[in-house]
Amino acid sequence: MNMNWPGARAGAIVTIDLDALCANYRHLRASAAPAECAAVLKADAYGLGAVAVGVALYDAGCRHFFVAHLDEGIALRPCLNRDAAIFVLHGPAPGTENEFLQNDLVPVLNSIEQIAAWRRLARAQAHPIPAVIQVDSGMSRMGLSDAEVDQLLHDPNLIEGIALQFLMSHLACADMPASRMNQHQLARFRAVRARLPACPVSLANSSGIFLPDHFHFDLVRAGAALYGIAPTQGSVNPMRPVVRLQARIIQTRTIGAGEQVGYASGYIAKEVRQIATIAIGYADGWSRSMSNRGCALVHGIRVPQVGNISMDSITLDVSVLPLDRVAPGQFVDLIWAEHTVDDIAALSGTIGYEVLTNLGPRILRQYVGDGAHPD
Ligand SMILES: *Cc1c(COP(=O)(O)O)cnc(C)c1O
Repeated sequence: MNMNWPGARAGAIVTIDLDALCANYRHLRASAAPAECAAVLKADAYGLGAVAVGVALYDAGCRHFFVAHLDEGIALRPCLNRDAAIFVLHGPAPGTENEFLQNDLVPVLNSIEQIAAWRRLARAQAHPIPAVIQVDSGMSRMGLSDAEVDQLLHDPNLIEGIALQFLMSHLACADMPASRMNQHQLARFRAVRARLPACPVSLANSSGIFLPDHFHFDLVRAGAALYGIAPTQGSVNPMRPVVRLQARIIQTRTIGAGEQVGYASGYIAKEVRQIATIAIGYADGWSRSMSNRGCALVHGIRVPQVGNISMDSITLDVSVLPLDRVAPGQFVDLIWAEHTVDDIAALSGTIGYEVLTNLGPRILRQYVGDGAHPD
C-alpha cells in the first residue's frame, strides 16, 4: 500500500463521487427549469465537504449557494468566484451585520429585528445592500410571522436601502406529495408575496423540485437530493448515489458456542463464529441504534453486524467467508450503491440527512471524479 495515500492510515473513508454529484445537480436543474437551482452547503455540505462540493458545483454552473452560519459563509467565500452568491440562512446574529458585508455574504433576514439591523447598516452605505427575506408559511421555524409581515407593510421604511434578492419560505412536508401541508404553505406564501414588493421568489427544497412546477418559482434550493438522498417518500429514488463508506478490518478472531461479543454481551454465539472488528463506531456517527442490525459488504458478500456498536469499532460475523479472505487492513463497505444512506437511515430509525451529517471528522473524505463529465 502506498503510505503517501492519506487513506493508508485511515480507519474509515467516505468516498464522494463528484461526477454523480454534478449529474444530480444537472438533473435537478433540468427538472426545475426555468427556475435557477441553488446548492445548499450547510453543515459542511451535509458532511461531504463544502469546499470540494461547492467548487465542483460551481464548475457545473451553479451560482447560488446556501449555508446556515456566518462562519460557514466566511470559510466558503474565498473558494468560489465573486459571481457566486452565498446566502446565510440564519441571518446575522446581532452585531455581526458588518461581517456579512465585508465577506460578500447575503443574509437571509428572518425577523423584524434582523431586518431593522440590516436597514441600519444600509443607511450607512452609499448603495442598497442585498438581502433575502424569509417568511414563515406554516413551518413555525424561521421567517417573518403574518403579524411581522403586516408590520413591514405598515412601515415600508423598514426595507429602504435593502436590495431584496429573493423572498423565500420553506416547505415542511415536500417529501410527502400527498400532504395537504404543501398546498396550505403554497397558498400562504402566494398571499404574502402578493402583498410585498415584487422580487424573485424561492420556496422549494430538493423534495419540492418533485412537486408540481408551480412550486418552483424563480429559485429552488437543493441539498439532500444532490447528495443522493431520495427526495420523495415511497417513490423510486431518481438520484445517483454519491457516497460510499468503507472501514478497515482491525483484527479477526474465532469464537466458540456460548462466547459473547462486545459491551453488555450484546451478542452470544450459538456455534463457532468468525468475528471481524472494524474501525468505525458511534463516535464516527455510526449509530449505536444499529447494534445487531447493520451489515457490511465483504468481497461482494453481505455479512451481519453483531453485538453492540462501540465508540470506535463494530463487530461483523464473517463466518460465511474463508478466513484468509478477511485480512486485517482490508476495507469493508458500509454504505454502497445497493445499501444507501436511506437504507442506513431506515435501519437506525432516522433520515438520510442525519446519517450523512453524523459522519464524523475521523472519517477521511476522499473525492473521485471531477464533475466535468456530462451524463
Ligand atoms: C436545508 C434547507 C434546504 C435544503 O433542503 P433539502 O431537503 O436538503 O434539499 C433548503 N432550504 C432551507 C431553508 C433549508 O434549511
